[in-house]
Amino acid sequence: ANIIEVENLFYCYRDGTKALKGLSLNIEENSKVALLGPNGAGKSTFLLHLNGIHLPQKGAIRVLGSEINKKTEKWVRSQVGLVFQDPDDQVFSASVWEDVAFGPVNMGLSQSEVDERTETALRAVRMYDFRDKPPYHLSYGQKKRVAIAGVLAMRPQVIVLDEPVAYLDPKGKETLMEILDGLHAAGTTVMIATHDVDLAAEWASQVIIIKNGVTLAAGDNSLLNRDD
Ligand code: ADP
Ligand code: ADP
Repeated sequence: ANIIEVENLFYCYRDGTKALKGLSLNIEENSKVALLGPNGAGKSTFLLHLNGIHLPQKGAIRVLGSEINKKTEKWVRSQVGLVFQDPDDQVFSASVWEDVAFGPVNMGLSQSEVDERTETALRAVRMYDFRDKPPYHLSYGQKKRVAIAGVLAMRPQVIVLDEPVAYLDPKGKETLMEILDGLHAAGTTVMIATHDVDLAAEWASQVIIIKNGVTLAAGDNSLLNRDD
């Protein structure tokens, strides 16, 4: 079954740049999806639609069968978690713990539920031991994991990460991918936008290539084992 369906999505920025020009694609439930495409293809613009930051100007996106619109925007944000490329856009509290607890607190959950979710999320990204540290003391890769924990604490069905391994060293990259595999094993659909074709070929169960605001190709990772 598809957890996300995108149909003929158009998006034009205020300055007239047409970033999406009829994008259509499906994301299967509990898949590991790699979204590939050159700079300017429309990947970030598309990702910003997936949790309602951009609303479709034309076309439609359905999440778990419900169309994203003004009315469902808030619900969508609880179902689809978005991790930005730069953790400094997402990590801002005085301590790691506070940062990850921010979402659950905002959801109006009880103190015990907030604590439980925060601890579970921090353990899932292997950052529990850093819970009392201010985020600015952390390495880039650690900050990235805190940003992921902040999204996980909302318990989304789908987690979407923009360039999760960019600027990470090989060890940091390996740790991050192990974390994503753990989330997938627990039943979350995981989607990454990446420039790393080798990583996508090795890791993804579903590959989507976009270019010029439309889908160029979609299929399983055998799509990437061609010479063209
Ligand atoms: P990608 O993430 O694949 O590099 P983007 O979604 O960032 O692609 O960009 C798609 C197109 O939209 C590009 O032509 C880009 O220059 C343009 N674009 C992105 N953000 C904005 C913006 N805020 N205002 C105007 N144009 C933008
Ligand atoms: P180049 O010299 O190829 O332009 P840079 O080192 O200037 O590469 O990085 C390009 C972009 O990547 C910059 O905008 C910077 O913000 C980001 N970047 C690079 N390394 C890191 C890092 N360790 N942490 C956060 N952002 C980084």
